[in-house]
Amino acid sequence: MKIFCWIAFLLMVLIQFGCVQRESETPEKGVSFKLNERRKKTIDSIRYNIQLDIPGQKSEAIKGIETVSFNLNAPDSALVLDFNSDSTHIISIQSEGEEIEFEVANQHIIIEPEALKKGRNTLTIGFIAGDLSLNRSDEYLYTLFVPDRASTCFPLFDQPNLKATYALTLSVPEHWEAVSNGSLKSKTMRSGKSVFQFAETKPISSYLFAFAAGKFFKTQKTLNGRPMTMYYRETDSAKVGRNKDEIFRLHAKSLSWLEEYSGIPYPFEKFDFALIPSFQYGGMEHPGSIFYNESSLFLDENASVNERMARASVIAHESAHMWFGDLVTMDWFNDVWLKEVFANFMAAKIVHPSFPEINHELRFLLAHYPNAYDVDRTAGTNPILQELGNLKNAGTLYGAIIYMKAPIVMRQLERKIGVKLMQESLQEYLKKYAYSNARWDDLIQIIDKKTPLDIADWSKVWVKTPDMPVYHYNDSDVNRLTQNPDSVSSRTWQQPVHFAAIERKNEQFYFPNPDGTGYGYFQMDSVSKASFFETYNEFGHAILSKPVFRGSMLVNIWEGFLRGDGPAPDTLLAQVLSALPKEKDPLLTDYLLGRLQSLWWTFLSDESRSKYQSEVEKVTWDLLNRTADKGIKKSYFRTFKRVALSADAYGKMESLWNGKLVIKDLALSEEDKISLAYELALRASGDVDAILQTQMDSTKNPDRKARMQFVIPSISQDEAKRDAFFESLKKPGNREKEAWVLDGLANLHHPLRAKSAVKYLRPSLDLLQEIQLTGDIFFPTRWTNTTFSGHSTSEVTNIATKFLQEHPDYPYFLKNKILQAVDMPSRAAKLKR
Ligand SMILES: [Zn+2]
Repeated sequence: MKIFCWIAFLLMVLIQFGCVQRESETPEKGVSFKLNERRKKTIDSIRYNIQLDIPGQKSEAIKGIETVSFNLNAPDSALVLDFNSDSTHIISIQSEGEEIEFEVANQHIIIEPEALKKGRNTLTIGFIAGDLSLNRSDEYLYTLFVPDRASTCFPLFDQPNLKATYALTLSVPEHWEAVSNGSLKSKTMRSGKSVFQFAETKPISSYLFAFAAGKFFKTQKTLNGRPMTMYYRETDSAKVGRNKDEIFRLHAKSLSWLEEYSGIPYPFEKFDFALIPSFQYGGMEHPGSIFYNESSLFLDENASVNERMARASVIAHESAHMWFGDLVTMDWFNDVWLKEVFANFMAAKIVHPSFPEINHELRFLLAHYPNAYDVDRTAGTNPILQELGNLKNAGTLYGAIIYMKAPIVMRQLERKIGVKLMQESLQEYLKKYAYSNARWDDLIQIIDKKTPLDIADWSKVWVKTPDMPVYHYNDSDVNRLTQNPDSVSSRTWQQPVHFAAIERKNEQFYFPNPDGTGYGYFQMDSVSKASFFETYNEFGHAILSKPVFRGSMLVNIWEGFLRGDGPAPDTLLAQVLSALPKEKDPLLTDYLLGRLQSLWWTFLSDESRSKYQSEVEKVTWDLLNRTADKGIKKSYFRTFKRVALSADAYGKMESLWNGKLVIKDLALSEEDKISLAYELALRASGDVDAILQTQMDSTKNPDRKARMQFVIPSISQDEAKRDAFFESLKKPGNREKEAWVLDGLANLHHPLRAKSAVKYLRPSLDLLQEIQLTGDIFFPTRWTNTTFSGHSTSEVTNIATKFLQEHPDYPYFLKNKILQAVDMPSRAAKLKR
């Protein structure tokens, strides 16, 4: 009995000890913050030497040999490398020529401390590269390793604060080109293949390491003494010829501007860029080897001023990253917003002066504030600087708060401390942390030293807490705007807030935030709101006649409307309709038309829609015909086809679609015809199948044809077919073309079909976690937003609430995405008339 007890005790100890051991030895999947911190403390001076043998067939495996050498300060626990691919892809690991033992678990390679020593270690790893982030097609491949995808290809320490040098050798089919971060040291032939050997890079973060190889054309140019090579795939040589000099010029100009602003010469050894068809983003800032989406750089002959500015902006943005992000990198991905906001900030300074015809203040207002508010007013909002427990969730940090609110806050900071101090602070920051990593707080410290203002306090509120402030006119003193009591006690949102008080016909009107720079909701009295619309664009006043004033008022009135401060939906609809003919600015026209469509489908009941139907159709149709500006005309066309409901309007749409009716200066592309066919089909008054079949037959572009084939079942009049379409989305293979899936979801959940689509809501939420795992970083947000966008009943909000109640431990980031998506339907349910 004693013995039995003793054995049982021993067993218990062993089991417990075993558990504890196991936990400390096998890190969780991805890179946890804990693993990040431990490695940062114990490992430094990392150098990778990587050789990859790339076959001509994309189905064949890529074999690799890699030498990783590093300094180990404390070899007292297991070494963890990241390798997020098939565990059988690791062939061997040697240390100083000797095979060593290793374990592969949870996307990591684990090497016991006995096989390592304090000081310099060199491991040689034979492996098969994982294909997941290699974007392989028949004629080329390219890497896209941001944020933590390098480890899907080869073993490494995949975290941004372990910067390393990379020496890459690529063996590729004979006629392929190759480009990487390092400059080309040699190109030789070996066993019928071309071998590109690239020089060792400066220290860079793993997400910035990149290469592309394949059948690329290349062209070189030297400007300001800097040779640059452009790699591209476009076969239309006239198009290339038309664009290439301007592309080189824009790069040279951006780099010179940044050298001047930062006081630091271009920090990497060479500068090339590759233009890739259907690249996932506008661009990716790999040092020395930027990748771009080819179509955003090679413009068509009649490119609009907006397209030209977008091109200049993306080039300036990626160039700015060479300093902001590449030279000085965030320590952990929770600060990813910082590099994005600086890149945009610099791009605006570089590009805006070249486009004086664009109203940049208005553009900034309408591009940033409404989208930021759409998230910041919801229960699912987040601060700019977020907690991130594991790098595998880095994708969920991206959203409107990072892309839209952060630039507003950065502009505010520059206005607060002044342009000169901002530049000085950034210069010091870049010098101090060059080829290394820094946090937002490191920059704040630098600024705080230089100014008597309390920047740390300002940052605590604007960057580290969520939400937006609300202001009201002080009752005792109407000449003051006061911040409302805040959701967080004693939080003060430091920012200058202004208003304009105007007297007209012995009456006083108040217009808060007339220059549109203040961030928040500014409560406004109903008389001033009404007068804004009554006198829309008619004030002969220095401030009030500016487009940016109209933009600011429209955004603020919309905010008040959503918060239940009035006016009623049908009143606001009438006001928007009355403003449209008086608005000539394209940006403001688009904004008004956007509000018109939201009101129409989300905030008006069926009865109200029939009451206003003829007026809405008449106003948009008349303006579509009357407007001379081709861009604005197109905006009216898009709105008309979305709001049209009457038999008369259906007839007009059908005649536009089949070409029996032609409107002067309205050119309808194949894309427009397809969307007209879809709108006709959704209204289901004609022979839907015949319309869709005719459109399919006349669509020439094969990509668009394939997309139609995929999307058509989602518009079917037959509910069973729509159900089957939704059912098919549960298979990951059917969600690969994410843009197609979103088209389909928008059709399923179109307000005209919303009642029959309620049944898809719960299964869509059930799929969300899987969607995060299988999809691109933006897909979970787009999936939830599109799913809920057509709905406006409390039944729908209840489905989301119930789902979250049943999953109390649901991942924080995804929960927020759901709360953001149901915000608008729940407001609509309350306000609908
Ligand atoms: Zn960027």
